[in-house]
Amino acid sequence: MTAGKRPRSPRKARYDVVIVGGGAIGLSVAHHLAKLGVTDVLVLDKDSLVKGATGRNGGGVRAQWTTTENIQLAKRSIEAFKHFATDTGHNIFFRQGGYLFLTRNEAQLAALRKAAAFQNDHGVRTRVIELEEARRIVPGLDTSGCVGATFNPDDAILFPWPIVWGYKEAAERRGVEVATFTSVEGLDVEGERVVAVRTNRGRIQCDWVVNAAGAWSRGLAQMVGLDLPVKPERHEILVTEPLKPFLDPMLVDLSTGYYLNQDMRGELVGGMGTHTEESMDWSSSLEFMRAFAKETVRLLPRMGPVRVLRQWAGSYDKTPDAKPILGVAAKGPVNLVQANGFSGHGIMISPMVGRLMAQLVAGRKPEMDLKPFALERFEGPLEPDPMVIG
Ligand SMILES: Cc1cc2nc3c(=O)[nH]c(=O)nc-3n(C[C@H](O)[C@H](O)[C@H](O)COP(=O)(O)OP(=O)(O)OC[C@H]3O[C@@H](n4cnc5c(N)ncnc54)[C@H](O)[C@@H]3O)c2cc1C
Repeated sequence: MTAGKRPRSPRKARYDVVIVGGGAIGLSVAHHLAKLGVTDVLVLDKDSLVKGATGRNGGGVRAQWTTTENIQLAKRSIEAFKHFATDTGHNIFFRQGGYLFLTRNEAQLAALRKAAAFQNDHGVRTRVIELEEARRIVPGLDTSGCVGATFNPDDAILFPWPIVWGYKEAAERRGVEVATFTSVEGLDVEGERVVAVRTNRGRIQCDWVVNAAGAWSRGLAQMVGLDLPVKPERHEILVTEPLKPFLDPMLVDLSTGYYLNQDMRGELVGGMGTHTEESMDWSSSLEFMRAFAKETVRLLPRMGPVRVLRQWAGSYDKTPDAKPILGVAAKGPVNLVQANGFSGHGIMISPMVGRLMAQLVAGRKPEMDLKPFALERFEGPLEPDPMVIG
């Protein structure tokens, strides 16, 4: 066991706030709580950090969405990412090279046009562009079969791991504790409140519990009889050997759910939304590698000889409308906050989600309306966002 993987047990038997899950979301909540002066906070993770989706994702950050609330979460998070290093002391290699969306079908192009107009109305600089311009933005791009594209130059990529290190260390400097290899196995409820979490390292009393357990969050809520429509959805992803920088934006083919970006080391990182199933199986498949390679060569024929370094998988915590569940559920304990169901885009909104959940727990008025993210929305008609990849 390396030093970084040594278990860190909770020091006390009572905290004001216990956050279950030490991914980008749980640690963002902890960091923002500490900034608001709430520092008697314990973050618990059943494993070492970055083992969940936060350590397994594509690092894409974008404001190209089609609901007001998704755009607001993303736009404000993009602003926060720009200041992440000064806020926490860690470099996340945030690079605004834009997101280039391609499509191969007319109905989807019409939806992209509508989405661009909506985004413009919300201050997002998305443009519907000609395929010729798409080829200028991505040298060597083959747009055969594509019918149109949109581009927002302010979208970005980042390296997700330092989000965890940054939020963790900044929160710890203010007094927050983070305990790893500490699994929550039960929640004790008295009346309408959770009064303690039961862990493999003992019982911990608390005033608030935050369920930031990602793909495991449904199981956690079930401990108090609350049913969250959050399912683990398996997604594969890979990284190639490093190349000279050539790919500025995140390249997305919306028709196939394909995405590709070039990270700060020159490696290409990408996946495909079409290869999914409800599963926590994180093994890698040759089938994915083949399908991904085929799509890559179709879009970027020069990439044929490029070697794959590594492939891996992870699970989205998917909701029926791919929007997160945020806040206290009407039918659950009054001090149990949900911050889960992020589907394929939790990293990009983690700063703002952390801020909102911290405001809620600290007794302040959250700066955004949380109603569109309430668990109760699943009782009525849903408003899925067509800009979801995969
Ligand atoms: C292949 C892939 C690509 C993706 N690409 C992107 C992208 O480009 N952009 C983007 O924004 N998002 C992307 N995502 C989604 C993003 O990674 C997630 O939305 C985000 O990481 C969620 O963070 P989290 O903190 O909620 O969950 P996690 O990082 O999964 O953290 C949850 C933590 O809870 C802990 N836990 C669970 N149960 C318990 C328990 N009972 N007791 C204690 N601890 C517990 C787990 O160990 C885990 O560490 C992608 C995801 C995948 C899988």
